Amino acid sequence: MKTEEISWEAELDLDAVNFSVNQALNTKKLFRYQFKESNSLVNILENEVCKYVQSDFALGVSSATNAIFLALKAVGVKSNSKVLIPAFTFTAVPSAVLQCGAEPILVDINDNYVIDLKDLELKIISTEAKYLLLSHMRGHLCDMDKVVSICRKYSIILIEDAAHALGVKWKGKHAGTFGVAGVYSLQSYKLINAGEGGVLVTNDPEVFWKSVFMSGSYEKNYLLHSSNQTDIAEKYINQLPIFNVRMNNLTAAIAIPQIHNIESTIDKINENYIRFSEILDSNKIICFPQESSLIRAVRDSAQIRIKLNESLRLKLKSELNNSNIPISYFGGKNNTNARLYENWKFLDISNAVLPNTKRNLEEVFDLRLPTHFTITTIENIARVFLKVLKKVESNS
Ligand SMILES: *Cc1c(COP(=O)(O)O)cnc(C)c1O
Repeated sequence: MKTEEISWEAELDLDAVNFSVNQALNTKKLFRYQFKESNSLVNILENEVCKYVQSDFALGVSSATNAIFLALKAVGVKSNSKVLIPAFTFTAVPSAVLQCGAEPILVDINDNYVIDLKDLELKIISTEAKYLLLSHMRGHLCDMDKVVSICRKYSIILIEDAAHALGVKWKGKHAGTFGVAGVYSLQSYKLINAGEGGVLVTNDPEVFWKSVFMSGSYEKNYLLHSSNQTDIAEKYINQLPIFNVRMNNLTAAIAIPQIHNIESTIDKINENYIRFSEILDSNKIICFPQESSLIRAVRDSAQIRIKLNESLRLKLKSELNNSNIPISYFGGKNNTNARLYENWKFLDISNAVLPNTKRNLEEVFDLRLPTHFTITTIENIARVFLKVLKKVESNS
């Protein structure tokens, strides 16, 4: 197989998805609240997510970003609130904070791409922020015991952006279930490809019901959720603004067969990742992050640190792209990458003190390894990668 023949776009198991989508279409009811009981496909997906991650409540919405927004509103983030976020995240994450009218406070990361807990503590003290929106970027988890204990110590409300961490576990417990609320994405470049979509999970009935109403549940629609704790819901009828960010039944129909297969997908992509990193490890200037043995990872992407000077890194990126390996790169001048805080021109970062984030990302390449890849595809990509790297090194 040549690299030109590799399809890098997310794919689907069409047999399963066609069946499920046809079932949804045949009902002709695509709006979740058209069903007279809590048995729409969105309800079914919500129940599956609850069962999978072991949470009490789940709410399907239109994107993870909207789920973050609802979670922040539901826990009380307001226009004068400060919300701590790791400086390495996707541009939509500080955007959701801004959508609440609140102020994002960027916290440094370490060389494993996760929040620096010392800087977190310093910034809790210096800013008196009361919220942490912990973004598990690319599925990397920090020490969850430590972050939870820091949050307890300072009475910080923890929300997890597990948009790209569905299935990742810390000591057997799912990412997204450590704080008051957690969020997963169903956008095509995440583990479950439904095009777009998000799921909010929580064990707190107040947070759940507030999110339900704000997501666009009006009048008696709250009765169509899979929870009978409606006495709490009733407190909020007509009390909250409604943002209409619901999930529709087609999205759920696409996602449901994929959540049924999620564990075998995770096994497969983790094997792919291990094979990929084994082959690349033969070149000593390449370095993969050291993952704690307490983490069950879900590796549908690789973050690859390569010790080369700046101009060679740029050369490597363009040569890999020319070889049909769509790698991106976090460093370099004039880089427009949406995961670099310096590029978030809508934020005033002139006073942000982040000595390590940029340095820790500078040598790092980022590559998606889609779920449909086979071991053969992976070996092929890894060998081409090494060949291109050797050529770039030898021309230096
Ligand atoms: C993809 C992603 C988001 C945004 O998810 P959407 O569903 O596209 O809104 C937020 N945070 C992280 C860490 C992500 O990877």
